[in-house]
Amino acid sequence: MTFYCKNLEINTDQCRKLHGDCIMGRPGCVLEGRVALSEELEKKIEKLEAERLQRIARRQSKS
Ligand code: SF4
Repeated sequence: MTFYCKNLEINTDQCRKLHGDCIMGRPGCVLEGRVALSEELEKKIEKLEAERLQRIARRQSKS
């Protein structure tokens, strides 16, 4: 099976919808909850979520 996502910027491997790396199945992705994730993808998503929470914490500590 092949899949083409209209949100993928092929030259940079960036997601136009989420304004970041294309990580299939990540929160907000069109495939979220629709595909089984590999262990590697799950780790990438966990890392992404940890970075997001760090950004929020940094923003809150500034205000
Ligand atoms: S993260 Fe999901 S929505 Fe974004 S480009 Fe990749 S497959 Fe498409």
